[in-house]
Amino acid sequence: MNTDVCRNPKCSRPTTPPHLLCEHCTTTMMGDLTWLTRNLDDLENGRLNRINNRKHDTGRTPTTASASAPLREAVLDLLHVDREGNIEDTLHAWARCLNVHVGMRDSLATTAERISRTPRLDEHAATPIYAAETHTLVRRAQNLIRMMDETRIKWGNCPNPDCQQPLTAPADAETIDCPHCHCKWAPQIVWKSRDKQLKTSKAEGTYGELSAILDSLGLNVPAATIRSWAYRGKLNQTKDTHGKPTGKYRLADAYQLAVPNHDHEKEDDE
Ligand SMILES: [Zn+2]
Ligand SMILES: [Zn+2]
Repeated sequence: MNTDVCRNPKCSRPTTPPHLLCEHCTTTMMGDLTWLTRNLDDLENGRLNRINNRKHDTGRTPTTASASAPLREAVLDLLHVDREGNIEDTLHAWARCLNVHVGMRDSLATTAERISRTPRLDEHAATPIYAAETHTLVRRAQNLIRMMDETRIKWGNCPNPDCQQPLTAPADAETIDCPHCHCKWAPQIVWKSRDKQLKTSKAEGTYGELSAILDSLGLNVPAATIRSWAYRGKLNQTKDTHGKPTGKYRLADAYQLAVPNHDHEKEDDE
């Protein structure tokens, strides 16, 4: 029986012509194409929309704005933009070589599925190169998804009045599970609860204390920012019973400055 060497540039296992890829690389390639078929729609529509829509849900994203912008960029880069290699370019070029039809409205997942169904796929000269490139891209996508799931941000405290424990979840979470009381919350509910809690808070503190309290509720407001508000007269010290300044500031006031005013007005109208 004739044997040849696998055409995957990173492999040197034997293969039997007319197969250009060894068994191992064929299995990897089919696994990658199946993974893309199953996951691309969610990455392209679900994930991106969940990150984008968060802003519309609430009118503002004090915590997640900074977390989601880079994630959104990373997903778009990997799918369509990155010049060093992106999923759209690779799948479309591979499909062209194989004479696989790609319509204007076909999703990337559809294209991946059509490629995987091409008869004698691994006998085509272009396949080993595109399969290797696809493997790299799939690993990038899997790492990105893992990162999105593992990057947990602070959302605020549990709205359950008997619980009030801090909640953390991925930036694009659809629901937030409280590990203490096991309630499940919609992100908007957690935000509204935090908003109410902060607006009505009687707490006072120094720049650093207020910054730490806000941070524990998922709002990143540096002490230096709070100090600059005080210097500019936007934030006033509280006074003791003799009318003397205490050196402390109200948490509710700092919160109002941390979050743009029109958002409060919008919510007050509800
Ligand atoms: Zn191989
Ligand atoms: Zn709870």
